[in-house]
Amino acid sequence: MTAFWTEPDYDDHELVQLVRDPESGLTAIIAIHSSHLGPGAGGTRFWHYPVAKDAMRDALRLSRGMSYKNAMAGLPMGGGKAVILAGEDRTKTPEMLAAFGDAVAALDGKYVTAEDVGINEADMVAVAERTRYVSGLPVAGENDAGGDPGPFTAMGIYHGIRAAVQHKLGKDSVAGVHVAIQGTGSVGGGVARLLARDGAKLTLADINADRAEALARELDGETATPDGIMGVACDVFSPNALGAILDDEGIARLEAPIVAGGANNQLARAHHGKMLAERGILYAPDYVINAGGIISVTMEYLCRRHGEPCDINEVRKRIALIPGRLEDIWRESDSSGVSPDMVADRMAQTLIGRA
Ligand code: NAD
Repeated sequence: MTAFWTEPDYDDHELVQLVRDPESGLTAIIAIHSSHLGPGAGGTRFWHYPVAKDAMRDALRLSRGMSYKNAMAGLPMGGGKAVILAGEDRTKTPEMLAAFGDAVAALDGKYVTAEDVGINEADMVAVAERTRYVSGLPVAGENDAGGDPGPFTAMGIYHGIRAAVQHKLGKDSVAGVHVAIQGTGSVGGGVARLLARDGAKLTLADINADRAEALARELDGETATPDGIMGVACDVFSPNALGAILDDEGIARLEAPIVAGGANNQLARAHHGKMLAERGILYAPDYVINAGGIISVTMEYLCRRHGEPCDINEVRKRIALIPGRLEDIWRESDSSGVSPDMVADRMAQTLIGRA
């Protein structure tokens, strides 16, 4: 019989902890993939998993992604992630968040948490009442870095889309460039607003149709159905909702020469990066282009630990380095014939000592 920890998703995780607190009803998983570069840093996801085993897969894949993301962003942090398993009614209580905070505290700094899907700033404030290993907390002044990472993630993706348009289409600006955006929440909505400012043409889709329509009205864009957005003929397809959307069927439907967006774990399987390259589609590796949020929360965390204010311009400067990293990956991919996702993985693995 093969040991379950030799399954690919485990990928030599340093720590995988199941947290159960029957009193509050908390069930959570905390995963730390690598602490080679520093404490495992990555957000907490609050999600209902009809099949509980999928929560473990999510935690493992997301925490490895954080190892790669933090390394490629040049941050002194390792990779970790937590998943809180929501019940069918998705009830989130202060008691649950307190129990989760205690579990993070017990790891004594090995894991630093922040927001992810289903967790907001107020939730992080509740967790911070039990542990100091928290980031993404509200900030006082408008020039202080920190708080909700969504707008910073959007900023990095905007820069990344501009770099992709330059690399693939030879255009210096996104004016008139048609971008189809899947998911118009915190990240997708932010990306749409930044692109609209530059005169990009937008097609938006969200399972919350009202949200997509309101944003389309605000930005003079169009809408597509959630089922139709991947097949829209455009210059850039920007996935900002769910992971694993780039599978055999999804890739076959794409009518865009570029895929660049913020969703985590966009490639359903490892070979789908190669499949995109074979179709001539330029791919911006997700954990490189969507690092803006973790750059912000990490700088906020480190500044707070040193008792210093954190200047938002320092965060912006670091986020502005994302296009250069993407360029390095694409250039290496162009010269070696290895797809960009694999080039990025190799770079990240080297940085975390797992080449
Ligand atoms: P969000 O919950 O604010 O927005 C997600 C949006 O996607 C929602 O409006 C939702 O209705 C929509 N959606 C869900 N399924 C959809 C589907 N099938 N088709 C179209 N729309 C759909 O979340 P967010 O913070 O914007 O995060 C979006 C993605 O980016 C997630 O994959 C997240 O893991 C990733 N990400 C977020 C951050 C961050 O800072 N928030 C950082 C890195 C990566």
